[in-house]
Amino acid sequence: MTAASDPVNDAPVPSGNAITSTVAPNPPALHRRGGALLPGERHSQNGRENFGFEVVAELPERNGRAGVIRTPHGDMLTPCFTPVGTKATVKTVLPEQMLQMGAQALLANAYHLYVQPGPAIVDEAGGLGVFMNWAGPTVTDSGGFQVLSLGVGFKKVIAMTAETVQRDDVIADKHERLAHVDDDGVWFKLHTDGTMHRFSAEISMRIQHQLGADIMFAFDECTTLLNTRSYQERALQRTYDWALRCITEHERLTAERAHRPYQALFGVLQGAQYEDLRRKAARDLGALDGFDGFGLGGALDKHSLGMIVSWMTDELPRDKPRHLLGISEPDDLFAGVENGADTFDCVQPSRVARNAAIYSPDGRFNITNARFKRDFGPLVPGCACYTCSHYSRAYVHHLHKAKEGLASTLGTIHNEHFTVGLVAAMREHLLAGTFAEFKQDFLSRFYPVGHPSRPVTGIV
Ligand SMILES: [Zn+2]
Repeated sequence: MTAASDPVNDAPVPSGNAITSTVAPNPPALHRRGGALLPGERHSQNGRENFGFEVVAELPERNGRAGVIRTPHGDMLTPCFTPVGTKATVKTVLPEQMLQMGAQALLANAYHLYVQPGPAIVDEAGGLGVFMNWAGPTVTDSGGFQVLSLGVGFKKVIAMTAETVQRDDVIADKHERLAHVDDDGVWFKLHTDGTMHRFSAEISMRIQHQLGADIMFAFDECTTLLNTRSYQERALQRTYDWALRCITEHERLTAERAHRPYQALFGVLQGAQYEDLRRKAARDLGALDGFDGFGLGGALDKHSLGMIVSWMTDELPRDKPRHLLGISEPDDLFAGVENGADTFDCVQPSRVARNAAIYSPDGRFNITNARFKRDFGPLVPGCACYTCSHYSRAYVHHLHKAKEGLASTLGTIHNEHFTVGLVAAMREHLLAGTFAEFKQDFLSRFYPVGHPSRPVTGIV
């Protein structure tokens, strides 16, 4: 049975430019319990042939491309942005609303679901998608980033800079070191109750198989830009050794859990800001047949993001998808797409929405500003999202001032629609051969001359 003919697991796939789409697809088939078969359904989704990727257009003289990722739960038209539901929920928003706004897939964090409710519960429910009432493709990370972030007390990779002195005992000010790495895995202290736990390649694979997402990531050692060159080399070797172990355990679990839909495994590339290490990681991991795709991970200095992505995509096999982990700012998304990243994820659009920040083509603004108190227009004129179609700036302003939860819901719907729609629009322009013009127009409006976040490169 192919994904296209499966009446149970296919999510309706948003078509065209999500920015201009106002028609909600039919609700997906939901509430499939315990992975049980429905009448007439066969267990034929477990084979690796149920996952695939096809390039449908390429940027001239760059690594950027448009494509289609095929999963047992539906297709993803790439490039695409995957909103993050850390604990199996995009905070404050229903999965149905995520589908309506054009989201094609959702990503959840293995570490957080390991902590609560535990992967066995999600497995018993029938997997992440069934558990959270999302019929489309799902993605989980390996838990490595969260676990290792405990080690240095940093939250966001992209916020790091390499400008300070490099040292391997780097730790953010006032944070206790909560994780310790060895060649076999990581010991870490839970952020909730302080108990000690162990993650390794095998443990991460078992957790992610229980979570049941369509795409999962190999367990890797995520370093910071502040680590020394020699430490980056050791971490790269460790990540490669763990990659081999992940593939072995993944293949064992795939055979053991033949009643479940196939889960694709992506290898994760590290190497920080070093060109030779990034290219080596891409060549070494790219040569492993056991990977269905690749995650572009680790510490990335914002100003060289596009260049670093291009080092990796130069070396990676063309016929497998690439996911750039943890970015969503418009200039970063353009740099990623242009240089050959196919999918993206980040908590940022929903996180900033809860803090009253609203994305618009003219940049981000704060809806709590007094000038919106009597502004009865939409958050962004012309935006087709549910919030802008039904609610005013004055109302969302009021909700924030009154500390009402609906403020977060309405802002998140808009910001996720904006980000998903921006990457969908990049796809349309890539197909139409107008990507460069679109990038120029969008970025010069979003980051006008004099804007503190205006990219140093990329805008003429
Ligand atoms: Zn809107």
